[in-house]
Amino acid sequence: MNTTLYDATAHDIARVLVGQPAYRVKQVWQALYEQLRAPADITNLPLSARNELAAALPESLVWKTESTDASGDTVKFLWNLCDGGHPIETVLMLYPNRATVCVSTQAGCAMGCGFCATGQAGFNRHLSAGEIVEQVVKAARRAKEIGHRVSNIVFMGMGEPLVNEAATRAAVERIHDDIGISARHLTISTVGIVPGIRRLARWPLPVNLAVSLHAARDELRDELVPINKRYPIEDLVAACNDYLDQRHRRVSFEWALINRVNDTRRDANELARLCKRLRPSAHVNLIPLNPTPGWPTRGSSPRRVQEFADILVGLGVNATVRRNRGTDIDAACGQLAAGQTITPVRLGRTEN
Ligand code: SF4
Repeated sequence: MNTTLYDATAHDIARVLVGQPAYRVKQVWQALYEQLRAPADITNLPLSARNELAAALPESLVWKTESTDASGDTVKFLWNLCDGGHPIETVLMLYPNRATVCVSTQAGCAMGCGFCATGQAGFNRHLSAGEIVEQVVKAARRAKEIGHRVSNIVFMGMGEPLVNEAATRAAVERIHDDIGISARHLTISTVGIVPGIRRLARWPLPVNLAVSLHAARDELRDELVPINKRYPIEDLVAACNDYLDQRHRRVSFEWALINRVNDTRRDANELARLCKRLRPSAHVNLIPLNPTPGWPTRGSSPRRVQEFADILVGLGVNATVRRNRGTDIDAACGQLAAGQTITPVRLGRTEN
């Protein structure tokens, strides 16, 4: 595969623009990353140079479809990778004062979490750093068109970022250095790759860490998140404490509530005990599981979610119930790519 546009270095661009004045490279770089312009829209570059750029350094993501949820504040993009057509997803979430992009780091995923549509579909390939960055640029461009500025990136889409660590780290650096989003607003979400968490604690950029926990005892977690058999909870807690020692930041635990599987009082008690083993205690984000066709159970009811949250809070844990964004557009991890049957809806409403 050719080097893609967002994998290209300034040196690669200079090679394509040979014969043009030297300042053109900077002009292109700023247009791509600061102004979020599509290559064809870099109109201060001569048309011939734009054409050469497009031919030598193609984009990787081919727009397949997009959908917006009923409230109009969640947009999900489905792309096909240009080399093999594998589908990947990106989600743009709009809030009154900020916008967040959730990116994929792999086409598919090998982690095999049974409740997850991506896990059910299996692994295709890693994404390159440029393919991760391209998702951010394209979602941020869409946000800009409707008057929002993307301020946060979560690596929480398809795939496990710490299994594709080199590309994830390079993408983080480009998003930080060139798009200009601060490390405090970048969050790596892992299912619990312990050696990766230990390395993450030593990355030059102090990004946030979120762990998709979903169970606080090995017996249940082995079932929900099979990688737990290799990296059990004891090792995971030690790695999180190592991250905290290095970074002095908070870790968050993601907990998808599955009806009568991990939403009982026992689960809440175990989670509260586990949170308190972190120094400082972890913050818990609770979200009802989005239904996926291949998983026989369903998400917890709003009442059970609230009861679970109340138990945690009563035990002194910081817990937030997150809105389940985009259930009506299959916005759970991997569902859009798995289905590919939704009706495209253009984003029609802004929220300020
Ligand atoms: S939940 Fe995350 S780690 Fe697990 S299979 Fe899905 S994408 Fe992979």
